Amino acid sequence: MDKIVSLAKRRGFVFQSSEIYGGLNGCWDFGPLGVELLNNIKQAWWQAMTYRDDVEGLDASILMHPKVWEASGHVENFTDPMVDCKQCKARYRVDLLFESLPKKSKKHIEDKIKVTLGADSAEVNEITINNYFSDNIDHFTADITCPTCGNTGTFTNARKFNLMFKTYMGAIESEDSIAYLRPETAQGIFVNYGNVKESTRQKLPFGIAQIGKAFRNEINTKNFLFRVREFEQMEMQYFVKPGSDDELYNEWKEHRIQWWVDLGIKRENLNFAPHPADKLAHYAKAAVDIEFKFPFGFGEIEGIHNRSDFDLSQHTKFSGKKLDYYDEQNKERFIPYVIETSAGATRGFMAFLCNAFDEDEAPTSEGKSEVRTVLHFHPKLAPIKCAVFPLVNKDGLQEISQNITSDLQKTFKVFYDDSGAVGRRYRRQDECGTPFCVTVDYDTLKDDTVTIRERDSMQQERIHKDKIKMYVLEKMSL
Ligand code: ATP
Repeated sequence: MDKIVSLAKRRGFVFQSSEIYGGLNGCWDFGPLGVELLNNIKQAWWQAMTYRDDVEGLDASILMHPKVWEASGHVENFTDPMVDCKQCKARYRVDLLFESLPKKSKKHIEDKIKVTLGADSAEVNEITINNYFSDNIDHFTADITCPTCGNTGTFTNARKFNLMFKTYMGAIESEDSIAYLRPETAQGIFVNYGNVKESTRQKLPFGIAQIGKAFRNEINTKNFLFRVREFEQMEMQYFVKPGSDDELYNEWKEHRIQWWVDLGIKRENLNFAPHPADKLAHYAKAAVDIEFKFPFGFGEIEGIHNRSDFDLSQHTKFSGKKLDYYDEQNKERFIPYVIETSAGATRGFMAFLCNAFDEDEAPTSEGKSEVRTVLHFHPKLAPIKCAVFPLVNKDGLQEISQNITSDLQKTFKVFYDDSGAVGRRYRRQDECGTPFCVTVDYDTLKDDTVTIRERDSMQQERIHKDKIKMYVLEKMSL
């Protein structure tokens, strides 16, 4: 992980937010290569999800009416239980603190939970752990050492902590002017369900897709981009007739995992993690996470949820506006169910970066081999699609290279480089994940051909300079 984070900074993928002021926890900036990669991920998702007949796009505002978050349950339920160390003031999310404990203390607490719950319910899960921490703090504090200051028995009771960022709208800061930065993009879709249905005349089943920023005041930010406070989501809500929801949920599950595979993530590095019935969110009938094998272990990158008719029913109740559907064929009226696919663009970025990172061997000009750092991005995602090099900086090779560069730049991101040995230039592009490098040499002067070298195989072939654009575009398509 350290190597990936350091490469990300060195090559301009990701910088710490406000770095010159010591950084801002849980916030990151995307540098020149990072913004290209992020845009390409979002574009690939947008294309896969909305370039079809049954899904429409949307871009809703981040600030929404405060009632939205009452209806959605976020004001009441979007909380994490957390404890504070009275000694050093460190704050922990209960489940993460529990996970970080030494095996022996964990076992001790698990045994106590079993006793508290009775011998027959020997089940220890997130819910029972959270309850235990809230209700049995005396036992708990006696056992636990604060990982930050090393004191034992210094924790407060667990308290609910709402993850939404609060702000105020308008000139007066009062209870009546509270607004929230959205913690998910989904609610912008639900409140526009009626507008989109009317304006597009879509019939069920149909979906609405949106990409946008979401904000969560996470207690413990960690693992680089994995858990951050400001991030982007790529969400789609698919409105379906009740009764068809189970089948469509399964279809979307398969469809979504395939998207990650098509963009280069090995299937064995992905995992479906279904939520057990006792851990389902308050709105869900079924839910599964798509997990990616990060260097620190499997972690969620996308959630697929059957949200039943919870959201549209809640917004009907709170707004007083009908959000139902009239099925003309069967002459019946009902509130649609929703299948949601909710992927993180920021977390997805990190998954694609980890997936692409590799150190292999490359030949040197002296006929030896050296370790090369390479990012094996799918050409569709690669920040730079093609680099162009003149073999030498004389005899008109630079001019031809620059002309090729500016022609290709009309279609995609290209990098021109005429400094250092060609081998060094290859290495620099390998580290950026550039899939193709074009070299202009003396043969180009004779027959207009160039050498094009493929990043992963390091194979080279000769093609006409007018064919470069098509060659790269073909490889970029899925
Ligand atoms: P987690 O359990 O990891 O907190 P979640 O189950 O709360 O995630 P969802 O609410 O289902 O996540 O959000 C959908 C997607 O949004 C996640 O799969 C993830 O990719 C992304 N996401 C959620 N929270 C964060 C965060 N704090 N930082 C980065 N991405 C996030």
